[in-house]
Amino acid sequence: MKILLVEDTRAVAAVMAARLGTFGYEVRIAGNGQIAFDMYCEAPPDLVLMDIEMPVMNGFEATNRIRAFEATRKWAWTPIIFLTASDTPENLVTAIEAGGDDFLAKGIPEAVLQAKMTALARIAALRQRLAVANRKLEEMASRDGLTGLRNRRYMDLDTDLAWVEAVRLGQPFALLMLDVDNFKKYNDRYGHLSGDDCLCAIAAALGATVDASNGAGQSAGAFAARYGGEEFAVVIPGASEAGYRALAARCVDAVRELAIPHELNADWGVVTVSVGGARSDPASGAILALFRAADEQLYRAKENGRNRAELG
Ligand code: GH3
Ligand code: MG
Ligand code: MG
Ligand code: MG
Repeated sequence: MKILLVEDTRAVAAVMAARLGTFGYEVRIAGNGQIAFDMYCEAPPDLVLMDIEMPVMNGFEATNRIRAFEATRKWAWTPIIFLTASDTPENLVTAIEAGGDDFLAKGIPEAVLQAKMTALARIAALRQRLAVANRKLEEMASRDGLTGLRNRRYMDLDTDLAWVEAVRLGQPFALLMLDVDNFKKYNDRYGHLSGDDCLCAIAAALGATVDASNGAGQSAGAFAARYGGEEFAVVIPGASEAGYRALAARCVDAVRELAIPHELNADWGVVTVSVGGARSDPASGAILALFRAADEQLYRAKENGRNRAELG
């Protein structure tokens, strides 16, 4: 267990650190709340032992800051135990109200300190296991089972977040809706299992195309998702007009270049997609309008012969 010990009185800190050290814990010392907060952000400990009265920033404010920082992180929660001069009921109430989880009197007997630390180490270990499990669950819940792309639910969540941010910053925003051409015929001709493989290959190609665009700096934070069935979406926050057009064209090319045989797909003989796009500069109003606009363009792409992008 890694402990961040926050205490401005050097002698007290040294004694406490030595005691905790003999129990086998790794202790780092911060001399005031400000230093503690900085050290916390740099490398979150498993437990914080926090003095209250300190120069520069006291323990209550440092705790407030740590809690605010944790709120921006997923699954972050660190026990904060206040160190008080005495274990009065008033001190306990104040400590809990200030966002602490418990308090210890500085003169606590050795055996009691060790027992409390053992209990807290147990909680810290459990919390870490929970965080790992939660992250795994969230990762699983966010992926489409067939293609491994973001699923519809997470696409919506992430799109909403990105949209709100773009509106706030007055940045542009673009969307692509993609639909596999004549895919019913593909299933009819090659079977649904081949159809599934085909969707996986398309998803991988789209994912790689979007990653390459992000990697080359032509977009930032763009992502592909499975919208549903044989339909995909690419969300491009902050998209420049040129970047958006280039990415749409590359998606069409990338799928055709997979060269997956599809003899019932018009004259191409391979699997293709149609793409509809819409862009808003700056992002404003409701994201739904942008989806609707992209969808209309997708219908145009189908009408105009498929295997192409039509962009609004
Ligand atoms: P268009 O070019 O106009 O888009 O024609 P289309 O045949 O692709 O369009 P339609 O909507 O008629 O058919 C979509 C097909 O996609 C029908 C459905 O069986 C198939 N499909 C949807 N989801 C899946 C899937 O997960 N696996 C497989 N194998 N097929 C799927
Ligand atoms: Mg002090
Ligand atoms: Mg469709
Ligand atoms: Mg289709």
